[in-house]
Amino acid sequence: EFIQEQVMGGVDVDEEEERERSIAKSAHEKLLADRKTLPVYPYRESLLKAVEDHQVLIIVGETGSGKTTQIPQYLHEAGYTKRGMIGCTQPRRVAAMSVAARVSQEMNVKLGHEVGYAIRFEDCTCEKTVIKYLTDGMLLREFLGEPDLKSYSVVMVDEAHERTLSTDLLFGLLKQIARFRPDIKLLISSATLDAEKFSDYFDCAPIFRIPGRRFPVEINYTKVPEADYLDAAIVTALQIHVNEPAGDGDILVFLTGQEEIETAQEILKQRTHGLGSKIPELVICPIYANLPTELQAKVFEATPQGARKVVLATNIAETSLTIDGIKYVIDPGFVKMNFYDPRTGMESLKIIPISKASANQRAGRSGRTGPGKCFRLYTAYTYYNELDDNSVPEIQRTNLANVVLSLTSLGIDDLLTFDFMDPPPSEAVLKALELLFALGALNKYGELTKVGRKMAEFPLDPMLSKMIVASDKYKCSDEIITIAAMLSIENSVFYRPKNKQVHADNARLNFYTGNVGDHVALLNVYNLWKETNFSAQWCYDNYIQLRSMKQGRDIRDQLKGIVERVEIELVSNSGDLDAIYKCITSGYFSHSAKLQKNGCYRSVKHPQTVYIHPSSGLCEALPRWVVYHELVLTTKEYVRQVSEIKPEWLVEIAPHYYELKDVEDLGSKKLPRGKGRASKL
Ligand code: ADP
Ligand code: MG
Repeated sequence: EFIQEQVMGGVDVDEEEERERSIAKSAHEKLLADRKTLPVYPYRESLLKAVEDHQVLIIVGETGSGKTTQIPQYLHEAGYTKRGMIGCTQPRRVAAMSVAARVSQEMNVKLGHEVGYAIRFEDCTCEKTVIKYLTDGMLLREFLGEPDLKSYSVVMVDEAHERTLSTDLLFGLLKQIARFRPDIKLLISSATLDAEKFSDYFDCAPIFRIPGRRFPVEINYTKVPEADYLDAAIVTALQIHVNEPAGDGDILVFLTGQEEIETAQEILKQRTHGLGSKIPELVICPIYANLPTELQAKVFEATPQGARKVVLATNIAETSLTIDGIKYVIDPGFVKMNFYDPRTGMESLKIIPISKASANQRAGRSGRTGPGKCFRLYTAYTYYNELDDNSVPEIQRTNLANVVLSLTSLGIDDLLTFDFMDPPPSEAVLKALELLFALGALNKYGELTKVGRKMAEFPLDPMLSKMIVASDKYKCSDEIITIAAMLSIENSVFYRPKNKQVHADNARLNFYTGNVGDHVALLNVYNLWKETNFSAQWCYDNYIQLRSMKQGRDIRDQLKGIVERVEIELVSNSGDLDAIYKCITSGYFSHSAKLQKNGCYRSVKHPQTVYIHPSSGLCEALPRWVVYHELVLTTKEYVRQVSEIKPEWLVEIAPHYYELKDVEDLGSKKLPRGKGRASKL
């Protein structure tokens, strides 16, 4: 049950305008016609003029007004690409790929030719490319190779309101470039109306506003808080589907992640099955970052006549992607965000309440093509009194090790004077410096070392890149790049269908023969697959996801290229597992944990209780000492991808980080108290 409230989203649209859409003959003609119906189109000339007149321009417009797909094309048509590429950054990989695909269709060119995209581990561009969509993280990496970005004539930092870590860094770097490259144009585009902050930061750059078209949106709140928002979301979606006339609009549900989306998809399938033939078909379309590309396209397909579409999306549909035809939005009010605690050095993914700004963006998705309805699965009291106005920018809630390393390799070694829009907490900066020092990437003056320079070449977390650089010493680079690649795969490698879990789990155990840890199990999976000449059948037989494996192989190929470039010899150690574990420890010593009496673990340096994730091969063996790849907070503090180590390695490998006393109380090998400290003296 919901309580209603009316809000006006803005100006009404002349219905005629919609009808006036030309009925184009070919699909491409229709695309071209569609371009002219977008809200940005009437402003094409004035926008081009503004770009010509100003070096930096802030662009603000509703989601769906055509900023991302149209503005780069306008600039291309106006000749900007004669002097260099137009780069348009996106915080999300999916958005970069799908928008590039769309624009290549509109321009009637092959994707990867004139229009391309670049995301981590995937470069779909060529010499012909003039419009390049890329993740903000990729442009940041391009800075390392081309500090003046001379191959670009225009850089558009899109979705600036998302304030990702990379976007915030780009702001600072691009602001610097603009000073010594008067020919480069910077566009900062954003969906929110809080453009003044961007303008202030860029020395009062002018703001170009694209007036939106919005229809009124009816907001509904629940009377009491929902105990189970996933269930409430499903029930609400079904109620809308059954009670509202079909064909009058699709449903968009905001969920927090892939797992939740898959659960919702399954339950919706089951429940619609029993609805009978009187109820129209419900087409279920998931969309999230790791969804395979060909399935992503499905969400943009027109809903079949008489049916209704329900889109189950992560935050990606909040502003990054526009799906036409949405009339109903279901907003449980949660988002999954990464948080970092500089005190403990722990990173965790948490599901937290969204901000008011997000809630408003979500609601707005329903009012793009006609009056919409938004169902908030929380109370009006919560909205008005409990939600924050804006989300905390990523730079203030993340591990900065990566950033500090990238900036240091760009020659910016004093982060305290770097021109941040919102500065990171100094505690987090110090923590990053401390870790990079312990990893050997920086010396005690904060300068980049030889090891650090090599590490910076890898598009990976510093701990992972340190592990690779250390493999030179342990003579196991061939194995380590496989492990690093397998750890970098977006989706799970193991396939565990609900009706065959026992089979799948047995198949998985085969890779753990000899009580190896998760890292070596991943290595085994890859090597066995390689022995079958990368057979698809082998993957099916062993409950391995072929798609993940192919991605792993691609990533491995790229890492191999970088390893060669930084002159790490590619050698295999053929079976010395201790060398491999030590090498992993070289990168992950700060992620060590010790077994406690009750089967849980405690991290060594900053005591925190953690548990081995049930998907780990070591979750029953419970070795005394482990290092882990990551900590995720779901129902518990779980560590994932775990390997057993010997505690003395910690002191041997990371003497700046551990003292003997940190590792001394270990059962049989117990050292007398004080001895560690004495030996240090
Ligand atoms: P903005 O960046 O202002 O939010 P976009 O340029 O992304 O707007 O979208 C403009 C229009 O282009 C959308 O309303 C939608 O109709 C269409 N569109 C954008 N991306 C895609 C896509 N990947 N597939 C199909 N249509 C798309
Ligand atoms: Mg956009």
